[in-house]
Amino acid sequence: MHNLTKEFSLIAKYFQREQSSRHDIILGIGDDAAILTPPAESSLAVTTDTMVYGTHFDDSVPVKALGHKLVAVNVSDLAAMGAEPTWLSLALTCPAINELWLSEFTSGFFALADYYHCSLIGGDVTRGPLSLTVTAQGFVPQGKEIRRSGAQPGDRIYVSGQLGDAAAALAGQQGTIALTDIEQARLNKRLFYPTPQVALGQALRAIASSAIDLSDGLASDLQHILHASKVGASIDAGVLPTSLALSTAIPEQQSRVQLQLTGGEDYELCFTVPESRRGSLETVANQLGIEVTCVGVIEGSEGLRVTLNEQPLLLTTAGFNHFGV
Ligand code: ADP
Ligand code: MG
Repeated sequence: MHNLTKEFSLIAKYFQREQSSRHDIILGIGDDAAILTPPAESSLAVTTDTMVYGTHFDDSVPVKALGHKLVAVNVSDLAAMGAEPTWLSLALTCPAINELWLSEFTSGFFALADYYHCSLIGGDVTRGPLSLTVTAQGFVPQGKEIRRSGAQPGDRIYVSGQLGDAAAALAGQQGTIALTDIEQARLNKRLFYPTPQVALGQALRAIASSAIDLSDGLASDLQHILHASKVGASIDAGVLPTSLALSTAIPEQQSRVQLQLTGGEDYELCFTVPESRRGSLETVANQLGIEVTCVGVIEGSEGLRVTLNEQPLLLTTAGFNHFGV
């Protein structure tokens, strides 16, 4: 960043916190680089996600939610690998220094980071069009990461939580579906404050054969597992887990499942489980109090087949893609 004293003190005020409770941080914010000690016997999982004004969010998103979501989308990628999130770096590009904005943003950011016992270890502040980038790092015991490539024919396909709320909130805002104010507000919570499935991801290390987090929509994200694992799948759209808010907002099943299959931003996990470990999954899900739903099965023949009420279902769009390709 430019060596302006004002910006330096802003970093100290908003980003540098008293003392991290993490013992693996030898040196945090304030020097040219952070110095960290990953535990022996662990692999480091590293991921980056960017949110750009005008592309990923606009003024309808509360600034506090922006801070929350930036942590959530990154931590969700670590959760999908079965990793425990530990360290975050933040690169912030903004047109001007706005202290009210910074204070709202960091309150959302640190509330979620603290919840996961994740520390901000450094970053950058630059001037330019508003853009937010986090690099998240975490630990996973060596050889225990959950990859996209491990699904085998016969494995069951599961999703956590409920699908479609965030996409419905977005559709409501854009006017493509009609929502009452109350419905919109309920669904907005899922769009603005997604909850990454961190505990479930770690519990799945010994259970799941593959996993991915749902950022672009089930149909599109599941295809990544299918391609990486060189398998196909059948899923039953009639059993997709659905919130009361969503079934109230969109009572008609056909359009609701289209949204659940192709709408993004759920940040739930989609994962595959061999038949022999389904019992363990049930136990773990009960212990954690997390809803998991079997939505289909992995098959040898490639491609994704979706049915609804025993009829083949054609998807209207294939999930969110920024470049439209
Ligand atoms: P340099 O010019 O050496 O890259 P900076 O002046 O950009 O360093 O940053 C000073 C310190 O503040 C560094 O430790 C850096 O990691 C930290 N920092 C800068 N911006 C942020 C931010 N947005 N969040 C957290 N730490 C930050
Ligand atoms: Mg430097």
